[in-house]
Amino acid sequence: MAKHVLILGAGYGGICAALETRKLLTADQARITLVNRYPFHQLVTELHLPAAGSADERHVRIPLDKLVGGKKIDVYVGEVKAIHPDQNEVEMADGARLGYDVLVVGLGSETEFFGIPGLAEHSFVLKSVDDARRIREHVHACLDEYAKTKDEAAATFVVGGAGLTGIELIGELADMMPAQCRARGIDPSAIRLYSVEAMPSILPGFPEDLIQRARTSLESRGVQFITGVAVTQMEPGAVHLKDGRVIPTRTMIWTGGVRGNAVVAASGLAVERRGRALVNEFLQSQSHPNVFVVGDSAVVMNGEGRPYPPTAQISWQMGVHAGRQIYALLKGAKMERFVPHMAGTLASLGRKDAIGMVGERKWHVKGKPAAWLKEASNIRYLSKIGGLFARA
Ligand code: NAD
Repeated sequence: MAKHVLILGAGYGGICAALETRKLLTADQARITLVNRYPFHQLVTELHLPAAGSADERHVRIPLDKLVGGKKIDVYVGEVKAIHPDQNEVEMADGARLGYDVLVVGLGSETEFFGIPGLAEHSFVLKSVDDARRIREHVHACLDEYAKTKDEAAATFVVGGAGLTGIELIGELADMMPAQCRARGIDPSAIRLYSVEAMPSILPGFPEDLIQRARTSLESRGVQFITGVAVTQMEPGAVHLKDGRVIPTRTMIWTGGVRGNAVVAASGLAVERRGRALVNEFLQSQSHPNVFVVGDSAVVMNGEGRPYPPTAQISWQMGVHAGRQIYALLKGAKMERFVPHMAGTLASLGRKDAIGMVGERKWHVKGKPAAWLKEASNIRYLSKIGGLFARA
């Protein structure tokens, strides 16, 4: 009889796990159900584009039926409420209970607010297409307000955290501002675009030449960096910094970090202190071998005992790998260790500029070649999942 493979989350890890499992196992061998909050797959690495209004939401949203339709993969649209791994059961917010023989958890990560007062309540985050829409609409509303009132707080935009998410977003916002200002008769020099970073430099961990390139490129388009100073409090109308500064603003977009998914943290699966599932070298939960955990919901150690970063390229490779291990598990074949191929890191700095490190030797790339490589890696991923011409 067909085993039931239940996959939670249709992000990079979940969608690849579903497609790979189906590629290897027939419908007689495995029934596959893919559960997701939305009826579409989101290209989370590209959310800064619709957030700034430089691309339509359809650019980052692929309907699930276009990806898995006709492949004998059932789609269940709903919110996962709890995982009960001792009962092989998943509880949905709509009250449904879904049983399984093998579970794949790919529920992604959540924003880490570090307990900073007011931040969760009064800031925007960028984790979904809905978040991107909220940011875009809010920024436009602030510009409309500034055009009428000349209230400086409405023309001041703060991005908290200058990791890759914050830098890619502020680059896009910087590029979008001049046209948005012109459309409202606002002098673009009235706009304040701040990137606040607690560490001494933006993009902590990046090589110095790429950091300098990012700074110069973004500063030339009006971004002001405040580094070595943490955000300590947020209230409606103002952000407070550790050095005592208070920036009047209606807009804080928080990109200060991620933590494990709360559903996974509370599931009874073995997790580490930040709520990410502990997995073995085959990506099986350390506590429940019929549960595989992929993407940001898991923490995977490299050969040096350090965790791999929570990135899309690792997530989708984990998904493919989990699909192959499910095949091995159900067929009684030998499982294989997960060893990701690290193609590099590429970050856009707006419409026309980018930086990155590519290949085994981490060659530094800047400008148009980096932007092209980033686009090429998007195309490669989309063609892998059959989504190149499927965006909504
Ligand atoms: P991150 O953790 O990488 O960066 C968050 C930044 O916020 C850090 O630099 C941190 O020092 C700063 N910060 C934390 N608390 C602060 C405070 N109180 N005040 C000011 N600054 C504060 O988070 P991210 O940028 O969302 O990235 C998450 C993961 O996703 C990373 O692994 C990243 O590499 C990956 N990512 C990759 C890409 C890409 O490859 N293009 C794009 C986006 C994200």
